[in-house]
Amino acid sequence: MKLGILGGGQLARMLALAALPLGIRCKVLDPSPDAVAGHVAELLVGDYDDPRQLAELARGVDAVTFEFENVPAAAIEALANQLTPVAPNPRALAIAQDRIAEKTLFAQLGFGVPPFRAADTAAELAAAITAIGTPCLVKTRRLGYDGKGQARVAAGADPNHAAAAVLAELRPDLPADRPADLIVEGFVPFDRELSVLAVRSRRGEIAIYPLVQNVHRRGILHLSTAPAPAVPAAVRAAAERFVGDLLAHLDYVGVLAVELFLVGDRLLANEMAPRVHNSGHWTIEGARCSQFENHVRAVLDLPLGDPASNHPIAMMRNVVGSMPERAAVLAIPGAHWHDYGKAPRAGRKLGHVTVVAPDTSTAEAILARVPEA
Ligand code: AMP
Repeated sequence: MKLGILGGGQLARMLALAALPLGIRCKVLDPSPDAVAGHVAELLVGDYDDPRQLAELARGVDAVTFEFENVPAAAIEALANQLTPVAPNPRALAIAQDRIAEKTLFAQLGFGVPPFRAADTAAELAAAITAIGTPCLVKTRRLGYDGKGQARVAAGADPNHAAAAVLAELRPDLPADRPADLIVEGFVPFDRELSVLAVRSRRGEIAIYPLVQNVHRRGILHLSTAPAPAVPAAVRAAAERFVGDLLAHLDYVGVLAVELFLVGDRLLANEMAPRVHNSGHWTIEGARCSQFENHVRAVLDLPLGDPASNHPIAMMRNVVGSMPERAAVLAIPGAHWHDYGKAPRAGRKLGHVTVVAPDTSTAEAILARVPEA
C-alpha cells in the first residue's frame, strides 16, 4: 500500500516512519528540496497548488492526507479530480482553517468556547473589543500557528486606540478595501491547557487517546504530560464526549486534535487541528498504538490500534531553535530522542524527547537531565 502526504516536515516524516513496519510506503509533496520527510519517503518537490505535482502525488497511492491545515482548497479539489480518497475530508479542513467556523461549530455541538466576535474593519474591531471586554486577544481568522498572528489587548485599554494598534501589528499592509479577517476572543484565565486527540476510521470506529496536559512557551508547545494529572473523571468524560461528537458530526477520518482550556472544572475549546499533533508525539513510546500509526491505519481503511497508555506516565519536551549534543542526550537512560534532521533556526521545532516512567517524579528527573540547548 502507498500513502500520499501533502507536506514533508516532521509530521510527514513520523507518519512515514510509522507506516513502514505496516508495509506501507509514503510519497510526500513539499515545496522544499530539503523537506525532512524526504529522508524516509519519496519526495516530490513542488507547490501545493501545482496541478501536475498533485496528479503525480495521487498517482499509485491508495489515499492522500496532509500534515498541515493550511492546505489550499484548490489542492484538495485537484486531488479529488484524480479520484484519490482524501482524508480528513475537505469540510473538516475548511472549518479547521477558520477560527470563527471552528468556534461556531464547537458551540453548536454544545461545548463551551471563549466569547468571540469577528471583525473586518477598525470600527468593527473597536466594537468587538468593547463587546468582549478587556483583556482580550485578537487573532487572524486564518493561517495563524504557534501563537503567530495574535495580539493581546491589555485590561482597561481604550478600544479605538487598541483597534488601531492591533490592525497595524497584525495587518500592516492591508489595503483599505480588504477585510481584516480577525477574531476577537475573551482572554481565558485558564488553570491548565489540555488537548484531546482521537482518531476515526472510514468504517466509523473511534479511538480516543488519554487527555494530555500542555505547557506553552512563547506560543510554542514546550511540554506535554500524558495522561494529564488529576483531571476529574467528569471533565475527562466531557472532553471524550465532545471529540467523539465532533468526529461523528464531521464524518471525519484520521487523527483530530482539540486544544482545550481548563478553568476550574470547566472546559472551553480553543481550536482543532485536522491532523496528527505535537501534543500527541508522546504516543510513539507512550501508547500501544501511536497517533502516527493510527492516522495511517484510519486513512487507509485499516483497523485502528489501541490508544491506551502503556506506561503510567509519559512526558514529551520539544527541542526548539537549537539542538543539544546528540551523544549527551543518548547517554541518558530512558530519554527517547527524536531529531527531525532540520537546520537550526530560532523558534523552529527541531526535535523532541519523550520519557515514559512509572511515576511523574521519575519522568521529571530523567527529563531534567536532558540539556536545554
Ligand atoms: P492558538 O494559536 O489559538 O492555539 O493560541 C496559542 C496559545 O495562546 C494557546 O495555547 C494559549 O496558551 C494562548 N491563548 C489562545 N487563546 C487564548 C484565550 N482566548 N485566552 C487565553 N489564552 C489564549
